[in-house]
Order: sequence, then structure tokens, then C-alpha cells
Amino acid sequence: MQPDCLFCDISRGRSLADVVFQDRRFIAFADRAPIRPGHLQIVPRTHVACFDELAPPLAGGLIRLGQRLAKVLKAEYRVDRVGFVLTGNDVPHVHAHLIPMHESTDITSRRYIPLDEVPFHPPEPVPREALAETAERLRARLAACETAA
Ligand SMILES: [Zn+2]
Repeated sequence: MQPDCLFCDISRGRSLADVVFQDRRFIAFADRAPIRPGHLQIVPRTHVACFDELAPPLAGGLIRLGQRLAKVLKAEYRVDRVGFVLTGNDVPHVHAHLIPMHESTDITSRRYIPLDEVPFHPPEPVPREALAETAERLRARLAACETAA
């Protein structure tokens, strides 16, 4: 655990998060400013700054959990594809973004835009009640998906 780390605090239950899944190694919760509804973050409970520093079993577990939750997001949001990205831009604790892909540009780079003066801003935070409702629906869908499997 790292002091002053938001994701360590969430992992320890010291900061609120709308949790979809958790076990001894990972916690997955609704992103507070989602690119699309159902945008999740998966965080290893162990504080590791960068994904390339993850022990291979933990990295494998992160991918495997992303696969499980991607099935849930595909079923819930009726999308063919779910994006999985590890950027580490904001919080220096490994976290994967899992995003239902409604459009091919849902995860992209500003570098694809040839204009210099295109406004760019992060998505707006979503009210906590909406995130809690999303997390509840996805927990139920996860249970249903894994019971059926
Ligand atoms: Zn941390």
C-alpha cells in the first residue's frame, strides 16, 4: 500500500467506489467520468506504478478479469467489442480501463485529428447514484453470465 494513492484507498475501502467485482487480488469499479456507460476500472490491490512492473501472474489475472467483465459489458450494452487499455496517465497505480465500444473512436488519440484547434476535454463526472445503479446492474449481469457458463 502506498500513502496518498487513490486506488490503494479504494482497495482498502477508504474511498468510495461503485464496485462491480472484487477478490483478494483485484477490485473493479465504475469510472467516475465514463467515456461510455459501463466504463470500468480494474485495479490490482497491490500498489504497482506501471503495468510493465506487474508480476506475470498478476498481469495475467488482470487480463483474465478483463475478459470476464468484457463478456458482461457486451451483454449489458449490446456491443461487439470492449476496449481494454492501460494508460497510467492520472493515478500512478496500475489500472485497466474497460470500455464498451459503441464507436471505433471511443478510445483514440488526439494525434489522429489533423486540426490543431479542436476542443478536447475529459468526460463529465456522473452522479454517484447513477454509478451505483450501473454497478448494481453489472454485478447482477456478472452473476447471471457466470452461472450460465
Ligand atoms: Zn496505490
